[in-house]
Amino acid sequence: MIIVLRAGATEEDVRQIEETIKGNGLTAHISRGVERTIIGAIGDERKLEPEAFEGMAVVEKVLRILAPYKLVSREFQKENTVITVNGKSVGGKALALFAGPCSVEGCDMMATIGERVASAGATFLRGGAFKPRTSPYAFQGLGEEGLKYLAEARDRTGLPVATELMDPRDIDLVARYADVIQIGARNMQNFRLLTEVGKLDKPVILKRGISATIQEWLMSAEYIASEGNQKIILCERGIRTYETATRNTFDVSAIPVVKSLSHLPVIADPSHAAGKMALVEPLAAAAIAAGADGLMIEVHQQPEKALSDGPQSLRPEAFTQMVGRLRKVAEAVGRTL
Ligand code: PEP
Ligand code: MN
Repeated sequence: MIIVLRAGATEEDVRQIEETIKGNGLTAHISRGVERTIIGAIGDERKLEPEAFEGMAVVEKVLRILAPYKLVSREFQKENTVITVNGKSVGGKALALFAGPCSVEGCDMMATIGERVASAGATFLRGGAFKPRTSPYAFQGLGEEGLKYLAEARDRTGLPVATELMDPRDIDLVARYADVIQIGARNMQNFRLLTEVGKLDKPVILKRGISATIQEWLMSAEYIASEGNQKIILCERGIRTYETATRNTFDVSAIPVVKSLSHLPVIADPSHAAGKMALVEPLAAAAIAAGADGLMIEVHQQPEKALSDGPQSLRPEAFTQMVGRLRKVAEAVGRTL
């Protein structure tokens, strides 16, 4: 439920409404705009009737949020959320560009890729230190050593770094090194993990689950937001369908659909959607044209030797050329890259 207050509402008015909400077992989320204060009553709405507030002189109107997700819905917040990390933004006019290897493989490797993608226009450096591999015998990531290499690459390039967290037991460790925490597709419905990252004051990339509907994806975002962390970046990375020509099926329609349902920024990961380097650029172009707020692209110096996801990784020179061409697509839809 959203309670819109009239201009001129006092702190005491806000406090009284907050107490009524809390007294009924719901949580109050207060957003103070330039002209108006809006209070969200989030929780089991059956416990609270709009009439509890409608009669108050200070209340302009009371609206029910119809979607099952509340804090992340467009109904709750009309303006786009813009998330800024060390001067780099996601959700504004400028597109965010997360680039880097699938896995952190070494210190020099991370620094070199970092410098190459930074000079091509990347705004964030990515790299996994904890890898969710299908096979227990495949490379699982360098763990803390990998996080250190990632942090060293951040110091050299100035790019904020994003890395995946797979297990709540590693949260302190990963949060110590990462500027942005990634929740991978396989963990989109790991509710304990979502609850834990919800308690952090750090941006979270929430990848769409392998077979998740848009509603399930937004409900997972709501888990994070309901704990207090609203710095959520949604990432469309392709879904499982009957098609086998690509690794996943890139759901381009999810981008405008989610942008209409939620105020959160949406980025696209054409690398994991395609699974093939030749398909990364057309899918990236489609994502920008469809309104994505940024991209996540895997880049590797020697894709044929990569310890994970080589077939979908671009060489740094191919990445640079692609970004040059994508700039024109961005401009055509009123964005910059
Ligand atoms: C990744 O980003 O390397 C990754 C494992 O992605 P996803 O969770 O989308 O498969
Ligand atoms: Mn990968």
